[in-house]
Amino acid sequence: MTSPAEPAPLMLFNSLTRSLEAFEPVHPGEARVYSCGPTVYNYAHLGNMRAYVFADTLGRVLSFKGYRLRHIINITDVGHLTDDADQGEDKLEKAAAERAQSIWDIARHYTEAFWEDIRALNIRQPAEWSIATDYVLRMIEFARSIADKHCYELPSGLYFDVSTVSDYGSLARAATEAGEGRIEAVEGKRNAQDFAIWRRTPEGETRQMEWESPWGPGAPGWHLECSVMSEALLGFPFDIHTGGIDHREIHHPNEIAQNQAFACSHGSGARFWMHNNFLIDRTGKMSKSSGEFLRLPLLVSKGIHPLAYRLMCLQAHYRSELEFSWDNLLAALTRLKRLVMAVEGLKKRAAGTWRTFWYSAPVPGASNPILTQVWDKLHPKLQPLLQEFDSAVSDDLKTPLALTVLENVVSIKKVPPESKLYAVELIDHVLGFGLMDLSRDALRIRPQGRSIDEAAIQEMLEDRKEAKAEGNYSAADAIRESLALLGVSVMDGDPLGWEWRIEV
Ligand code: AMP
Ligand code: ZN
Repeated sequence: MTSPAEPAPLMLFNSLTRSLEAFEPVHPGEARVYSCGPTVYNYAHLGNMRAYVFADTLGRVLSFKGYRLRHIINITDVGHLTDDADQGEDKLEKAAAERAQSIWDIARHYTEAFWEDIRALNIRQPAEWSIATDYVLRMIEFARSIADKHCYELPSGLYFDVSTVSDYGSLARAATEAGEGRIEAVEGKRNAQDFAIWRRTPEGETRQMEWESPWGPGAPGWHLECSVMSEALLGFPFDIHTGGIDHREIHHPNEIAQNQAFACSHGSGARFWMHNNFLIDRTGKMSKSSGEFLRLPLLVSKGIHPLAYRLMCLQAHYRSELEFSWDNLLAALTRLKRLVMAVEGLKKRAAGTWRTFWYSAPVPGASNPILTQVWDKLHPKLQPLLQEFDSAVSDDLKTPLALTVLENVVSIKKVPPESKLYAVELIDHVLGFGLMDLSRDALRIRPQGRSIDEAAIQEMLEDRKEAKAEGNYSAADAIRESLALLGVSVMDGDPLGWEWRIEV
């Protein structure tokens, strides 16, 4: 194959229309993406992190397709209530009261923990992390501009009247009354789905975080924050708004209603609304209320590299539910190890002669697909594979297929190692494992809190080998049992040649 094939058109699933649509940016050559960020009253669980692996992958694909990416992720440090409704406490106020700490300390602590998880998963830094409390004045201005036509006041604050915009809730595809059960009745609300955009501090109380406003002292509603920050940083309309699928039901329809009111249009603020499906966990450990809930550092403490979780996410399509299990995770770790070992082997054989994959930064006003840029530098046997990769990621981010292509690139016969490495690096730029720098040693993490005497384990393994060689299988089994009691499982016939691993 010599002439560069046309890069595949980028098709993305738009939750607004529930269909695949060709991506055409609002601003030529540029992609503007806003992702709903975490509420920093507690640590992010693994499910939350799936949302950011998805948003990161989307951003990487947009870069691969040659767009200049402007990605914003917000940090919600005020306004998210304990029950998604208009009553209940602010999640951060509650955490601060329980722990006798200031809200600012709580927010800082969990924001930093979240950023650590972001780094560990190789999630690229967005252009900006927008912090909700930095935008409160702008939120008040936004609310003021829509208040007369779209809102009404109740003793508890300013409410948005959803009947003032056309087609409220069409994103959720909910009949008008659906969702009602989840929203606690507030005396005086005109419609069940009306929501607070400003929550007035109750008479006689003071909140740690409150601001003066035309509707009394109080704090913004959660939905208002995302409308305001996305408008301030990306402008309406922008290209893509992302979040977990739960946001399709209430948070995003409410953002859309506000955006329509603000822009006096039927547009929804963003052209595409994209939602990742849930990571589900039948062990019930994902709930933040349970003691040892599933967080990234928990994996690491069990000796599992965080990028195994990234790979586990990419093995599933983002719109499918993904079930968490330790077995799934260990299988992903094995797959990652295989890739790392293969790349290490290629590097050894190429002996430093490979050329680092290079591409030119997109120019304003035009997209410049990376596939087109590198086509001539690709080994002819790799060209069809890269084309397959491009088709996979362009087809609504089919990462499971893209991973298989990567493995095929690594294992294809009769292609010099340096050519393979060039292609591996190119693909890895999109899948985000950092394969060119990951070593097999880095993947072997010591589980915390276990004193492991490696020499003793090695000795027991030698004894077991001898027992087997002598045909003394019962002795060999007994040694295996003793190792199991130490939390070590023997890996006979491991394709990577590892003899043992620590049980998770
Ligand atoms: P939160 O901090 O609760 O606002 O959630 C942060 C992000 O994680 C949002 O985009 C949620 O939709 C998403 N999310 C929450 N739970 C899960 C889950 N189990 N699987 C995938 N995404 C989730
Ligand atoms: Zn949001």
